[in-house]
Amino acid sequence: KELSELIAAGEVIERPASVIKELVENSIDAGASRITVEIRNGGSVYMRITDDGCGIAPEEVPTAFLRHATSKILEKADLDNIHTLGFRGEALASVAAVGRVEMLTKQAGAEYGVRYQIEGGTECGMERTGCPEGTTIVIRDLFFNVPARQKFLKKDVTESNAVSAIVQKIALSHPEIAFTLIRDHRREFHAAGDGTLYSAIYAVYGRSFAQDLLPVSYSENGISLEGYVIKPLYAKNNRSLQTFFINGRYVKSVTCSVALEEAYRTLVMTGKFPACVLMLTVPPETVDVNVHPAKAAVRFTDEKRVSSAVFFGVKNALMQNGL
Ligand code: ADP
Ligand code: MG
Repeated sequence: KELSELIAAGEVIERPASVIKELVENSIDAGASRITVEIRNGGSVYMRITDDGCGIAPEEVPTAFLRHATSKILEKADLDNIHTLGFRGEALASVAAVGRVEMLTKQAGAEYGVRYQIEGGTECGMERTGCPEGTTIVIRDLFFNVPARQKFLKKDVTESNAVSAIVQKIALSHPEIAFTLIRDHRREFHAAGDGTLYSAIYAVYGRSFAQDLLPVSYSENGISLEGYVIKPLYAKNNRSLQTFFINGRYVKSVTCSVALEEAYRTLVMTGKFPACVLMLTVPPETVDVNVHPAKAAVRFTDEKRVSSAVFFGVKNALMQNGL
């Protein structure tokens, strides 16, 4: 039982960034309007996620940490129709299996909240407590009981960068939510959550990046494209600043990247990898974002259609700006 718990946990949790991704998605599912993420030493020593979401009823807290207890997948058909981000019911169980977890949670209007502690899958305390509405989860000593995993962790700065990248992408995909990222006691960014993609980009990547963007707004064949691309001069030497969201979900898509790069190539001499933040809306039945839960892989039923929308959307944006 314990071993299978650890193996299952490993499927969901590779590194601190995967914990942060799952827990921030839970906060979003809980309807949070502000989310704060704090990490120290790459996250393996300390991670905290605080939200002002709906909180969890005291009697439901232990259940939330049971594997699959909350799985929202009732039958396979549901896979095509997932509206909340969490759907496998195993993030909390997995984190609790491989770390020391403390949760403080209180529902709106409740008289009191609870503090719940679970370490390496073993419950070690639950008590009433006064706390703000919403949920705070602290994870200490990730993989303390899985030395083999610990060895695979990279340097703190690498793990921290991976956490930053995840929180950045999530903040960009939810401009209506205020995000704060604190890294080793320093505030790395704060997005105010005013609802516009532009101010989220400004908060995440800074002023000079935001000033070098061109707006994109386009649709064809039932696919729409909104967002920003970088002015051609500022293309990068890798794809790390190419951000695509499909129906609100962050994905890595070679199809989209190549179409973007082609659009630049036809018009201007430029570096190879233009930056972008592009939101694609496609008919849900034409996309499969569940290729692997922890990866950002995506499959389209019609690659050409997606590719064409990105190519012409970006090309139009560049031409409208006299390029
Ligand atoms: P899933 O998200 O797939 O349901 P998780 O293990 O991630 O599974 O979470 C289990 C359950 O705990 C969720 O379904 C939700 O009811 C509750 N939960 C987790 N995190 C939060 C949170 N930040 N705020 C409110 N409820 C939460
Ligand atoms: Mg979840």
